[in-house]
Amino acid sequence: MLNIVLFGPPGAGKGTQSERLIDHYGLVHLSTGDVFRANIKGETELGKLAKQYMDQGKLVPDEVTINMLRAEVLKHESPKGFIFDGFPRTSAQAEALDHFLNELNTGIQIMVSLEVEEDELRERLKKRAEVSGRVDDADPEVIQKRIDVYHAETAPVKTFYQNQQKFVAINGVGTIDEITHRIYTAVDSRN
Ligand code: ADP
Repeated sequence: MLNIVLFGPPGAGKGTQSERLIDHYGLVHLSTGDVFRANIKGETELGKLAKQYMDQGKLVPDEVTINMLRAEVLKHESPKGFIFDGFPRTSAQAEALDHFLNELNTGIQIMVSLEVEEDELRERLKKRAEVSGRVDDADPEVIQKRIDVYHAETAPVKTFYQNQQKFVAINGVGTIDEITHRIYTAVDSRN
């Protein structure tokens, strides 16, 4: 299996690049944000719970997120691999993912970290708010909270994969095509 963690702050382009990668490598795209949003739309219990956190720009608690992720992975029979987009977002999630993949006799090959500076991120999220309809994109305070949470809780996940020699930083500024090709080069050198 080829399992990729696609990492980066809110607005870095994880969703856009995931679309390219799933086609190119035949992988399953697993975005925790998308799964939470689908649950909110379907008014499930999980959705109601997740919404309380997401609307404030906070992370959904680890236990809830990890259980949800596990269930999503197990829905797929003999997949070629996964792109984890928006997961892991805390060190505890990274450890849980390793244990879980280990049980399935597989693991993560590479963490691709899309690097984009903060002013550019704010601009992108502002633009996305006009089309996404996402509550958490519409309010500058919530955007700031998400960026703060990223620095405090999510950025340490980089160290986790650096220690395993799986971390690759990719310049996330350029055309969508340019960035896609940077990612292909990085993934192909590890695969
Ligand atoms: P973005 O990366 O642009 O912030 P996402 O769609 O990945 O957007 O995530 C939206 C929100 O969903 C996050 O702010 C958070 O509340 C919740 N969320 C997504 N993934 C996770 C996760 N792995 N752990 C906890 N909360 C998460």
